[in-house]
Amino acid sequence: MEFTLDEMRVHLDALEARIAEACKIAGRSRDSVKLVWVSKFHPAEAVENAISLGATDFGENRVQEAELKFSAPRMAKDGSRVRCHVIGPVQSNKLKKAAIVADCIHSIASIEAVEKLEKVCAAQDKTLDILFQINAGEEETKSGLDVHEAENFLNELAAKAGAASADGKSENFPHLRFRGLMTIGKNTGVAEDSRECFAFLRNLQQKFLAKGGTFAKFDQLSMGMTGDLEVAIEEGSTMIRVGTALFGERDYSKPVNDPVL
Ligand SMILES: *Cc1c(COP(=O)(O)O)cnc(C)c1O
Repeated sequence: MEFTLDEMRVHLDALEARIAEACKIAGRSRDSVKLVWVSKFHPAEAVENAISLGATDFGENRVQEAELKFSAPRMAKDGSRVRCHVIGPVQSNKLKKAAIVADCIHSIASIEAVEKLEKVCAAQDKTLDILFQINAGEEETKSGLDVHEAENFLNELAAKAGAASADGKSENFPHLRFRGLMTIGKNTGVAEDSRECFAFLRNLQQKFLAKGGTFAKFDQLSMGMTGDLEVAIEEGSTMIRVGTALFGERDYSKPVNDPVL
């Protein structure tokens, strides 16, 4: 059962209290952490309710579901256009669709994917934000760059990118902005267990942000979910991806496949 608007408001208030407390402990402002509402497996009506509660950014982990809910532009309460974040691994043959529907893709882990996204975005005359997913939890089932290869990967990427301008756009990837790193914490049920991998991500992101050039806008850390967002905020997260705490449990037996608009 989906939450009613009132139920969702109660959950949002409880979540905002958690975020506020974590920001206070970390000495950070609430503004420094973006809330991405992970609407996967929830219908368009749930998205509408979220928008009426002020949501501006949504995360989906499957491209088809993102298209169903976010292909048609939606307006947020603050007058901005609602942003769609693709947060799940994207197969090569779905990259084009992902690039078209998304404002930001969090889960890129290969140079080939970057090259393909540049081509699609050039054809669409669109600028896309991308983050690189790091498998910092080091679990076989998770996708993303291996922690030991991440640094080499980013160096190789910079070499391929060529000269960059102050906005991080580069000669060879003029339609992409490399915005930072994403990871999924350890799925142990104990939030503290993710601290080390979140700290690893922050160190890597800071190191490359400091290099400037094509990493001039590498200022984002997408980390923290319902179970570990406090630890993520303490470790510098700038985007928390929250599903369950806002929308309730997902019913995986009911994929959202109906055209909704
Ligand atoms: C589903 C998902 C989330 C949200 O997880 P919750 O525990 O429901 O908050 C965050 N990130 C990714 C990549 C996901 O696939």
